[in-house]
Amino acid sequence: MEHAWDYSIVWKETLNLLRGVLSEQEFRLWFFEVDYYDGSEETLRIRVPSSFVRDQIKQRYQRLIEDKFYELLGRKLLLDFVVEKRSLAQERPVSSSSPQREIPKERPPHPQLRRDYTFENFVIGENNAFAANAALAIAKNPGTAYNPCLIYGGVGLGKTHLLQSIGNSVYGEFQNLKVVYVTAEEFTNEFIASIQNKETHKFKTKYRNVDVLLIDDIHFFMNKTETQEELFHTFNALYDANKQMVFTCDRPVSELKNISHRLRSRFERGLNVDLQPPSFETRYAILKKKIEQKPIHIPDEVITFIAEHVTTNVRDLEAALTKLIAYAELVHRDITIDIAKSQLKDMFTTTKQTNITIDLIQKVVADYFGITQSDLRNKKRTRTVVFPRQIAMYIARELTEYSTTEIGEYFGGRDHTTVMYAIQKIESKMRTDPTLDTIIAQLIREVQEGTK
Ligand code: ADP
Ligand code: MG
Repeated sequence: MEHAWDYSIVWKETLNLLRGVLSEQEFRLWFFEVDYYDGSEETLRIRVPSSFVRDQIKQRYQRLIEDKFYELLGRKLLLDFVVEKRSLAQERPVSSSSPQREIPKERPPHPQLRRDYTFENFVIGENNAFAANAALAIAKNPGTAYNPCLIYGGVGLGKTHLLQSIGNSVYGEFQNLKVVYVTAEEFTNEFIASIQNKETHKFKTKYRNVDVLLIDDIHFFMNKTETQEELFHTFNALYDANKQMVFTCDRPVSELKNISHRLRSRFERGLNVDLQPPSFETRYAILKKKIEQKPIHIPDEVITFIAEHVTTNVRDLEAALTKLIAYAELVHRDITIDIAKSQLKDMFTTTKQTNITIDLIQKVVADYFGITQSDLRNKKRTRTVVFPRQIAMYIARELTEYSTTEIGEYFGGRDHTTVMYAIQKIESKMRTDPTLDTIIAQLIREVQEGTK
C-alpha cells in the first residue's frame, strides 16, 4: 500500500521562512500563485502557474527551500514542480447562483493603445523577466499588486510595449475600469492647453477619475515645474484611492534632474524595475516571434545572423528585420544569408576587435581631452570630465564586447543605465553636430592603432 506523504505543514513553514527573507514584493511576485501539490518519500511537489515561474523559483530559491526542508525534517527532501494554472474552483469558490464565469463582452479597441502591444507578443527573457512579471501581476490585480510601478531602461527595450500591455490586458479583463495611457509629453501639452483655455478643472477631473493611469517617458517632466506640481496632486489623489499607476522612464529615478523632491519620492515609492538589453537567446526568440506573424520564410541561419549582430536593442532588431523583408519583397527574391549580410552590413556597429581594452580607450580619450584616466573613473560630474567620459563609454560600446554593466564598472562603478544614457546622449549629439562625428572617428582610429 502506498503511503500518503503530506508535507503541507512543511510547505507552510517554508513559506513563512521565505516571507521573512524576501522583500514583500519579491515574495508576492514568485509565490503568490504557488500551492502545495503533493508529496512522496523523496519529494515535495508544488503547483506553479507557468514553466517560467518554475524556472525562476528553481534558479533563485531551490537551494534555500531544500535547506529549509532539511532543517524541518532532519532529512533530505527534494523540491519538485507541477505546472498547472490554479483551477477556477481554487481561485474563487463557485457560488451556486452563477456556476459559470461571465464571458467578457468585447470592448471596442482602446483609443490610446496599440492592439499589438500585448503580453502575448512580448517575449520574456532574463533581461526583462522581473519587469514583465511585475507588469503581469499588475494587470491581474490593478491597484493592489505594486503601486505605483516604474519601469526604466534605455531606448527600444520594450518600455512602451510593456506599459501598453498592462493597459490592453486590464481594458479587456476589467470592463468597469477606466484605463488611460498618455506620454509625459502629451500630459504636459494637455495641461498647458488647459491653462490657456481656462479648463484646468476639466483636466483635473479627467485625470483624477481614472482607475489605471499609465504615463510613458516621465523623464520628459524634467524642468517642467508646473506640470510636475499638477502630477504630484494627481498622484496623491489616485494613490489615496488605491488606483493603479505605472510609469516608464529612460533612466533610474535617482538620475532624473530638475524633478521636485516630493515628486521624485512618489516615483520611488512602490516598485522600480529595469529592462536590460536582451541576450542572444532572447534576441533570437524575439525575431522568431516577429517572423511568425509575417507571411514570409526566413531561414534559421539568417535569424541567427541578425541575432548575433544586432545587439543594441529590440527596436534595432525589428528595423533589421523590416529592412530585409522590404528588400526581399522589392526584388522578389528569397532571403538568403548573403542578402542578409550585404543588406544589413551598415546597420552593424564597427566590427569588434577583441584586443581592444577599455583601459586603452580611456587612455586615448583622456589624452585627447587633456585630462587623466582617473578623471574618467571617478565620480566627478564637472562638465570637463562628463563629456569625455560619455565619449569613452560610447567608444567602449562600439569597439568592445563589454556589456553596459561591465562598462559601467570600468567607469567608477556606474549603473548600466548611466552608460546607456551616455551612449544615447552621444548618439543624439552626433546627429546634430557633425564635428563630433569626426572627433569620434579619429579617436576610434587612434584606439585601433594603439593595439598594433
Ligand atoms: P521603448 O519604449 O523602451 O523605447 P518599445 O516598447 O517601443 O521600447 O519597443 C521597441 C520595439 O521593440 C517595439 O516594436 C516592441 O514591440 C518591440 N519589443 C521590445 N521588447 C520586446 C520583447 N521582449 N518582445 C517582443 N517585442 C519587443
Ligand atoms: Mg517608449
